[in-house]
Order: sequence, then structure tokens, then C-alpha cells
Amino acid sequence: RAIVRELDEKGIYHIPTFPLIPPKCHNPLSLIHYLFVLFFINLVQGNFGMVELCLYDPKGDQTGELVAVKSLKTENESSNLRREISTIRNLYHENIVKYKGICNDEGGANIKLIMEYLPAGSLKEYLPRNKSNIDQKRLLLYALQICQGMEYLGSQNYIHRDLAARNILVENESLVKIGDFGLTKSIKDDKEYYKVTEEQDSPVYWYAPECLINRKFYKASDVWSFGVTLYEIMSYCDRENSPPQVFLKSIGRSHGQMTMTRLVDALEKGWRMPRPDSCPEMIRRCWSHAPENRVDFNSLIKEFEFFLT
Ligand code: ADP
Ligand code: MG
Repeated sequence: RAIVRELDEKGIYHIPTFPLIPPKCHNPLSLIHYLFVLFFINLVQGNFGMVELCLYDPKGDQTGELVAVKSLKTENESSNLRREISTIRNLYHENIVKYKGICNDEGGANIKLIMEYLPAGSLKEYLPRNKSNIDQKRLLLYALQICQGMEYLGSQNYIHRDLAARNILVENESLVKIGDFGLTKSIKDDKEYYKVTEEQDSPVYWYAPECLINRKFYKASDVWSFGVTLYEIMSYCDRENSPPQVFLKSIGRSHGQMTMTRLVDALEKGWRMPRPDSCPEMIRRCWSHAPENRVDFNSLIKEFEFFLT
């Protein structure tokens, strides 16, 4: 703490402040010195990385603001985190988690992503915990907000590729935001889809047939994943009935054949996740086999708005 104050008073470090960003403006890549980012607790510790709760405290008097800081255990120039940063910097929407800046670790080798902190965590933790206080209408409001964020993302020519309840963050009981742009890809103006070349862990139970079979990702592939996310939301993210659980329960555990092959088989034969009680029927139109036959986010927004008025 003493060090922070001394540096601060002598004005040795330029103290970055978060600029007020007008909508549709690209965020500057503000580099925040690690001495101004004080670690509080680990929010999530995964296999490859972590998300920490920190205090961004440029004055060094603990009056700063809470931020979420994402980092990877091992990192290189082409890591997902660097790509995630280059994506999230360009996004400005009420239903997308806000970028704040980047910061190096003490050694200076690794980069960290600093975002606004959403106190209630992801829908996957929030919904089971608060089930008794959240009615169906509230769930539809979350669905509408996700569609609004996705419509914006698509308008910027991005495909999220990891839309799932675990990646929807909760600001408060009436506001959710899309997070985790680690797999997000930008599609070129002359292309309708992004073709994945690298092999990586994919959220296969959230993926449409064209993603599993041809590794092609259209905006409509995000609509499919939204359908699976809607399924999760309408079932309050019940662990016993998560998308992988439902698939394994209804198709059976492996009989020698790879899970992925059986998943593709089942989807091609028309198998779909069940529609949760009281879930609008449009969920099925998110899961049309051909991407061009799926409902789009714009129509989904209109339908959810209709339900909510
Ligand atoms: P990963 O790429 O490891 O999946 P995510 O960006 O999805 O990383 O973050 C993992 C988890 O960390 C989320 O499910 C959520 O619980 C928590 N988290 C991430 N970002 C934030 C944030 N801005 N505020 C609060 N919690 C967050
Ligand atoms: Mg995630």
C-alpha cells in the first residue's frame, strides 16, 4: 500500500481513468498498472485460467471500484484471452459485460482482462439459488436481454460461439449481460459463416449440427445455442437436467461409440432437448436443422417483447 501511495503522490505513474464512452465508440486499450489493481478473492479457478475480484484503486486510498480480472495460467501471443480482449474492447451494449482495461502481471509476461464486476455471478449459479424469488416472466426478461445483446453482437459481425447460462452474468435481479468472448469470431463482410480450423474443447451440447459436422459457424448457430441457453434458463439451470445430463439420460451413456458421433446422429434423426414447461414454443424454431430455417434474434426480440407486455 505504501508503495502505491508514494508513487501516486509523486505522480510517477500516469493514473489511467476510465473514460466515459459514448455508445458505438471503440474503447481505448487502457493499460492499467498492476499496483492499482488490488486482489481480493478468487471468483472462479478453472483448469486454464481464473477470474478474480479486485479493487481498481488509482488513488491508493481504497476508494476505487470493484472489477473482475480474467487471466490464463499459461499464455502466449495468440491465446484466446488476447483475442477475447480485442473483441470485447469493440463492444458497447447494455447487455454485454463492459470492458475496463488491461493490466500486466507483476512479471510483465501475462496480460489480464479487466471488466466491470457483476456481483451476482452467472445465471448458472444465480438461478438455482434464487429460484423461489424469480417468476417465469423474469426468466423471459433475461431471455429478451440476451437476444438484445446477441442482436447487437451480430450487427457487429461477431459470432459468440459459447452462448450458455454459465456465460450470462447477472448485474441485478432485472439485468443480465453476455460475457465470455473467449471463442468469439469475427466474420468477414463477404462471408456468412466462420470456419474453425483449430481443435479445441467445444461446448458440443450447445452446438448446432453445422458446427459439429462442418465446423461452420453462422449467426444462426448462435441462435441454436441461444435455444439451449433458453432451455437452461426456463429450467432454472437445474443441475440434474443440464443439457449434457439430458442427452446422456435420453440417448444413453457410451456404447463404444464416441459421444460426439452419437450426438450428431441423434440431432440428424431429429432428437432435440425437451421444451421445459411454460417455455414458449419458439424454442423449437431455434433448433431447426438448417441454419437458414431458424428464427433470428430480431424476431425473437419481438416475440419476447410481446410476452412481456
Ligand atoms: P471461462 O473462459 O473460463 O469460461 P468466463 O469469462 O466464462 O471464463 O468466466 C468464468 C466465470 O467467472 C463465470 O461463469 C462467472 O461465474 C465468473 N465471472 C466472469 N466474469 C465475471 C464478471 N465480470 N463479474 C462477475 N463474475 C464473473
Ligand atoms: Mg465461460
